[in-house]
Amino acid sequence: MRIILLGAPGAGKGTQAKLICEKYNITHLSTGDIFRMNIKNKTTLGVQAKEYIDKGQLVPDALTIQVVEDRLIKEDCKNGFLLDGFPRTVFQAEELNKFLQSTNNTLDVVLLIDVPNEFILERNVGRRICSSCGRSYHIKFNPPEKLGICDFCGDKLIQRNDDNEETVKERLTVYKNHTHPLIDYYWTNHCLSTVDGRDDILTVSKNIFSALDT
Ligand code: ADP
Ligand code: ADP
Ligand code: ZN
Repeated sequence: MRIILLGAPGAGKGTQAKLICEKYNITHLSTGDIFRMNIKNKTTLGVQAKEYIDKGQLVPDALTIQVVEDRLIKEDCKNGFLLDGFPRTVFQAEELNKFLQSTNNTLDVVLLIDVPNEFILERNVGRRICSSCGRSYHIKFNPPEKLGICDFCGDKLIQRNDDNEETVKERLTVYKNHTHPLIDYYWTNHCLSTVDGRDDILTVSKNIFSALDT
């Protein structure tokens, strides 16, 4: 299965991606996670990406597309993959199409997790992520069993640099201008499916699974 997850910042893409990839045994590719890992390891890519990410802006297309293509050719994507946070511009979507065509692959579904703007700020500002495995928690909606500790790997939870009110607002504007047009783009290509992202995490995943199984 080859899936794209679309949704505003904090819609729940990363949270649902983990559950979907576990169930369907496919590889989770999050451009945000890849960039954050590179920032943590102070790689050249990390240094370049950080400049944009901390301001809530998009990392340039050329850099981002290269990262994704390098990843998609790896063995662990042969059985299927889920793209979380990519594409984010129509240009990225077009480049992805060309790449998939050149490797004789097609997308099965583009899944939109639809969350209205008024949910976005609280979801992002209350988010905490694991410093090792990147899993998302929320201080109110999805707290870990032990305060500040990842249930999955036992490492420390941290707040993302870009999860402050000012940067979230900028990310939302960027989403509206550059990423939201992808909904029309994939709607026209007939592979868009939408789930209501206002429900709790388990209800959203139940609805995603029924969309994927039909
Ligand atoms: P969100 O929680 O907002 O969906 P992500 O973890 O997917 O965040 O991405 C964090 C940041 O990384 C983005 O605000 C952007 O700066 C950068 N980024 C991630 N994916 C892309 C992409 N496909 N194109 C450009 N920049 C990206
Ligand atoms: P994205 O990858 O789209 O930016 P995340 O999966 O990181 O989003 O979720 C953003 C925040 O909202 C996290 O703190 C997460 O625990 C929380 N969250 C995710 N899904 C839901 C939901 N259905 N209801 C309430 N909170 C949620
Ligand atoms: Zn962890």
